[in-house]
Amino acid sequence: MTKTRASGNSGARGSPAGPVRPEPTLNAMIPLQAVTPAALTEAIPGVPIEEARRIVGAIHRQDRLPAVVRNVRRITLDRVRAAGALPTLAVRGAQCSRIDPFVKYSLSTPGGEVVETVRIPLERHGRYSVCVSSQAGCGLGCAFCATARLGFQRNLETWEIIEQVHVVRRGLNRVQGQRVHGIVFQGMGEPLANLDNVIESIHVANEPSGLAIDGRAITVCTAGLPTGIRRLAREAPAVRLALSIASPIPSVRRRLMPIDLAFPLEEVLDAALEHSMVTGLAPMWSFTLLDGVNDSVHDARSLAQLARDFRRRGGLRPRISIVPFNPIDPAGPQSFVRSSHDREAAFRRVLSEAGLPSHKRYSGGADILGACGQLAGSHAQHTGQMPFVALTPPPVDD
Ligand code: SF4
Repeated sequence: MTKTRASGNSGARGSPAGPVRPEPTLNAMIPLQAVTPAALTEAIPGVPIEEARRIVGAIHRQDRLPAVVRNVRRITLDRVRAAGALPTLAVRGAQCSRIDPFVKYSLSTPGGEVVETVRIPLERHGRYSVCVSSQAGCGLGCAFCATARLGFQRNLETWEIIEQVHVVRRGLNRVQGQRVHGIVFQGMGEPLANLDNVIESIHVANEPSGLAIDGRAITVCTAGLPTGIRRLAREAPAVRLALSIASPIPSVRRRLMPIDLAFPLEEVLDAALEHSMVTGLAPMWSFTLLDGVNDSVHDARSLAQLARDFRRRGGLRPRISIVPFNPIDPAGPQSFVRSSHDREAAFRRVLSEAGLPSHKRYSGGADILGACGQLAGSHAQHTGQMPFVALTPPPVDD
C-alpha cells in the first residue's frame, strides 16, 4: 500500500454521506490522487479492486472524487471519502514564456516551500510533457544549477509530485485533445535521493485506469547515484534514465558536480550499464556546455571515448543531449558563460566523427527562468524578470 499521507491542506471534495468509520485526522488521510487501485484496496478494507480501478479513474478524469461513480457501490465511495482526501498545491502563479510555449508554475506546498513545475510542449500537436520537481531545493550543489543555491529543504511526497501533473492538466483544453503525454523528473531536486516517492509516483502515473502515462514517456534525470540507478532499473524498468555527465574529466566534473567526490563517474557508469542491460533502454547522457570549462575538442574526444567504452562493455549507445547553458540569474554576475556557436559546433563534430550523434536539447522558457538549470523557487520570483501572472494558466495557442 501507499505509505503517503496527506500532510495537511485537506482539499477533501464532496461531503461525506454518512462515514462508515470515525473521521480520520487530515494528516492520516490517504491522498487519493497518489494511490494505485491496488494500494487503495489494501489501504481501505472493503474496497474491491474493480471498484478501486473505477474510483481511481474517476479521480484522475474529473480531478475530484465524484458523488457517483458508475458501477461503484455507495458504501464503497463512502469508505473512500471517509479515509481519503485530495490535497492540493497552492498555485502562486504561472509565467508564460514570450519566446516559446513553455509555462512555468510556482507552487506552494502545505509546509510553505516553493516548488516549480514546467509545462513543455512536445513536437506532436497538443501533447505536453511535465517537468516535475521531486524535492524542495536540492542538496547536491551542482555549480551550474540555480536550484543548488536553495540548498536541500525536503523531499516531496508522492501526492505532491502527482499534483504537479494535475496542475498542468488543469491548464490544458482536454476537449480539444490536449493532454499530458510524458513526465520528466528534471525539475528541482535529485529524484534518486527521493526514490521511494519517485518510484511510487511513476507507478501512479503509469496506472492504466488513472493517468495512463506510458513508462517510455517518463524520464528520470540524475546527477548520478549508483544505488538509486540500480533500484530504478529493478522497480521501474520501463522508465528512461538520463545522466548528467558535465565533464568526462574527473577533476573538472568534481568541480562542477560535487557529488562526484562521493560517487565518481566511473561508478555511476557501472550502474548505468546495469540499467541499460536490465531495461534494454539506451541512457541519455546530458551535457551542459560551458564556455572554456568543458567544451574543448579534447573534452569531446574524452566523452566519445567514454561512450565507446560504455558500448564495449555491453551497454547500448548513449544518446548524447547537448544542453546549452542557461543563465542562472541574468541580472547578476555569472560564473559560467554559454558556449559559442562555433565551439558547440566543433564539439558536436568531434562526437559525430566518432560515430556518436548528438542532439541539441531545446531548453525553452529561458526568459521566465524555466529552462534547464534555472528553477530556483522563491529566488526566481525576485529576479524581476517577469511578474507572475494570474492564477489561471495562460491559454494554449493551438
Ligand atoms: S542539477 Fe539537479 S542534482 Fe544538481 S543541484 Fe540542480 S537540481 Fe540538484
